[in-house]
Amino acid sequence: MKRIVIIGAGVIGLSIAYELSKVKKFKIILVERKKKFGLENTSKNSQVIHSGVYYKKNSLKNILCIKGKKLIYKFCKKYKIKNIKTGKLFLACTKEEEKYLNILKKNAFKNGVKDVRIINFKELRRIEPTIIAKKALLSPSSGIFDVQAFIKKLFLISRKNGVNFRFNFKNFILKKNDNKFYFNNSKEDLFDYVINSAGMDAIKIARQSFPNQKFPDNNFVKGIYFMTKEKLKVKKIIYRAMLPGDTKERIDITPLLTGGYIFGPSVEKSKFTDKNKLKSKFINGIKNYLPKVNEKKISYYKEGVRPKIMYKKIKSNEDFYIKKLKNHNWINLFGMESPGLTSALSIAKYIKRIM
Ligand SMILES: Cc1cc2nc3c(=O)[nH]c(=O)nc-3n(C[C@H](O)[C@H](O)[C@H](O)COP(=O)(O)OP(=O)(O)OC[C@H]3O[C@@H](n4cnc5c(N)ncnc54)[C@H](O)[C@@H]3O)c2cc1C
Repeated sequence: MKRIVIIGAGVIGLSIAYELSKVKKFKIILVERKKKFGLENTSKNSQVIHSGVYYKKNSLKNILCIKGKKLIYKFCKKYKIKNIKTGKLFLACTKEEEKYLNILKKNAFKNGVKDVRIINFKELRRIEPTIIAKKALLSPSSGIFDVQAFIKKLFLISRKNGVNFRFNFKNFILKKNDNKFYFNNSKEDLFDYVINSAGMDAIKIARQSFPNQKFPDNNFVKGIYFMTKEKLKVKKIIYRAMLPGDTKERIDITPLLTGGYIFGPSVEKSKFTDKNKLKSKFINGIKNYLPKVNEKKISYYKEGVRPKIMYKKIKSNEDFYIKKLKNHNWINLFGMESPGLTSALSIAKYIKRIM
């Protein structure tokens, strides 16, 4: 029997617990510093199942997002988790963005997302009569789903399969003795394998246990959302067209399963944000393509932190960082930003393969 410890009960730690708990020879403990699962970035995102249109070919984001998307829809069907395959529109509002549509389409095809197509003004008006743009790229396989129901199911199945969840578990350092790991605050447990999926704390945890190893640095970027409960006619997820891999701020619209819409997330590199200024920026941005939105009904909603990483404090890394340490049974998951939610189930399968 191999003993495994997973750190962090976000969607990724839970998905790994779910996947590994199907293997009979594993005894799994999942430690979480909060009192419940899924309280950090897992609950602070757009709840979008991404289709994989704009990631770099052969990147982990590309491969794991496309596989993850299929696995999530299948999981939702099996366990009756609410989801809507809304589809997503990338709008070309300017001449420049019209050029982006072809590049995005080519990229999507290269990535294996072959159901995308460019639609003209007339078709766009028919599909989304309140949206104004010259043209758009339609990606039919994007959607939204009930993230809370999803993570609850992952938790319940894992627990039924024998995963031991320890909540409020914090202030520990994992130490190594021979080939086993143990917690400095509970030395009786010995582990053969560590999976470090602690989200924003993952790099800190790796450094504490391996002070002499080189790891990337954190490069956190906050994302703020606004929302409206206005009954808009928008049915799809709406993005402005962009170049593949571009991480510049866009002001997206995403329908909520509970009614209403969220706008954003913004891209905040500094710690302080003037929310009034940001709100005006959002309103201007949205009105560009949805002129009839009632700005009085738009209010602050929530914010999350993209756990981006960089090398040598200058070179930013845009892909997921999922690596086993050389000579140690320890896997680090860093930089698990979007599409981490969409990819969670395929990330778990990938971890199983690495192990
Ligand atoms: C603004 C925003 C929008 C996004 N939108 C989308 C989207 O629409 N679609 C999509 O696919 N992805 C999206 N993402 C990405 C997605 O939310 C993340 O990839 C995903 O939530 C990462 O899950 P996680 O389990 O790694 O992290 P988290 O949810 O942050 O979980 C990490 C867990 O580790 C725990 N932890 C941390 N330190 C310790 C410690 N020392 N000891 C014990 N436990 C610890 C935390 O308490 C937490 O529960 C978005 C992200 C952001 C920020």
